[in-house]
Amino acid sequence: MRHIAIIGSGPAGYYSAEAAQKKFGEEVAVDIIDRLPVPFGLIRTGVAPDHQSIKAVSRRYEKTNLGDNVRFVGNVTVGEDISVAELQSLYDAVVLATGAPHDRPLDIPGSDLPGVIGSAAFVGWYNGHPDFRDLDPPLDARSVAIIGNGNVALDVARILAKTEEEFTGSDIVGHALDGLKASKVEKIVFLGRRGPHQIAMTPKELGELGHLARARPVIEAGDFPDEGDDAMLEPGIRKSVTHLRHFQIAAADAHHKPIEIIFDFFAMPVAMEGDGRVEKLIVERTALDKDLRSIGTGERYALDCQMVISCIGYRTPPIEGVPYEHGRGRFANSEGRILPGLYCVGWARRGPSGTIGTNKPDGFAIIEAVAEDIGSGGRKEGRAGLDRLLEDRGVETVTFRDWKKIEEAEIARARDGSPREKFTDIADMIAALS
Ligand code: NAP
Repeated sequence: MRHIAIIGSGPAGYYSAEAAQKKFGEEVAVDIIDRLPVPFGLIRTGVAPDHQSIKAVSRRYEKTNLGDNVRFVGNVTVGEDISVAELQSLYDAVVLATGAPHDRPLDIPGSDLPGVIGSAAFVGWYNGHPDFRDLDPPLDARSVAIIGNGNVALDVARILAKTEEEFTGSDIVGHALDGLKASKVEKIVFLGRRGPHQIAMTPKELGELGHLARARPVIEAGDFPDEGDDAMLEPGIRKSVTHLRHFQIAAADAHHKPIEIIFDFFAMPVAMEGDGRVEKLIVERTALDKDLRSIGTGERYALDCQMVISCIGYRTPPIEGVPYEHGRGRFANSEGRILPGLYCVGWARRGPSGTIGTNKPDGFAIIEAVAEDIGSGGRKEGRAGLDRLLEDRGVETVTFRDWKKIEEAEIARARDGSPREKFTDIADMIAALS
């Protein structure tokens, strides 16, 4: 029997467990350990609440939990309740699938002012992550700057711009819906340090901005390169640029929509200013060098804004004793191997890039590496040892069956038109079990 512990129950964790099941059949026992009492990581608390079709992938992960050879062990914090070294002594392989839940810091003067928020916190707030339920973003802001031109920036802008009706069918949490209903936001500005041809927003998601009930995208015609140059772009980016060009042409017909979503390209934030809270973002115009990197031109201007949301990527938090690559914000690894018996997968391995589906080949590849390294296993105690240790320490674990009870309670308390009302407090999740 092979004993595998996977830390983190998001897409990378579940695809790895599925791969282990397929590879080893009944000759494996996998424990998926998560800090929260609820599974699915990014699917539950990262994917936007109005993208329910993407969240539906969790049904595939549920199937992985149907057999006895894969367990969900929730409410266990690795590093507090149990160490990585202890897990290594119990399991043939320990796979870190901890994602990249921390914001890349925006190191500019004033970025610690109240009203400056990272996307991990803002996304966690509207998705009901227990760590961010009390964020209380300043939605009295009339003007919001969003730094970054990726899909997270897009999610954040769309959520800020939608009407209450547009959240029908979503599982946005009640506290966020209430906050957004009272929001004063009338101007949202995307700051991209490069141009339309370097946009990281993908076409399907970008296209949604053109169909919002009360918000309209606004782009300066002068920011575009010659249309003929679009032909040289990779097809995905070309489609995104086509959307941008369409937004620019369609803007004249959308004046009745009161919220502007402005694309400010070639714009690099250099400082934030304000008295007690952010009031101004100082921006430097950029140009591209021959390697398409942004360089400041020296021309500066001030953008009035009362909230700034930085969407510039994420980092994996280090774990004591696990080699870490500080520059890239992920575990130091070679094709997922960190140390003998210790692996990483997904964003914890490669950094925050790609779609949810990218984690599938990643999960399958790491299990191939595990198979090569551990052979038929058999020398470790596995889950019996984990259970004993956690019981001795008084840790109350949550099983997959327990999670189904929490889920049932979340479905039962959903408001009309919503699939569930998530619990946002760990104590409430645990209380739902009794
Ligand atoms: P991302 O796609 O890497 O975009 C990050 C953006 O931040 C880029 O525009 C980048 O500009 C900019 N940036 C980085 N450092 C900056 C700085 N110091 N100052 C100003 N701008 C800076 O990351 P993401 O939006 O966090 O998304 C992470 C991954 O999740 C991506 O693969 C994304 O596609 C995926 N995702 C998908 C969905 C979906 O619905 N399909 C939703 C959310 C996320 P440069 O290009 O100049 O570096």
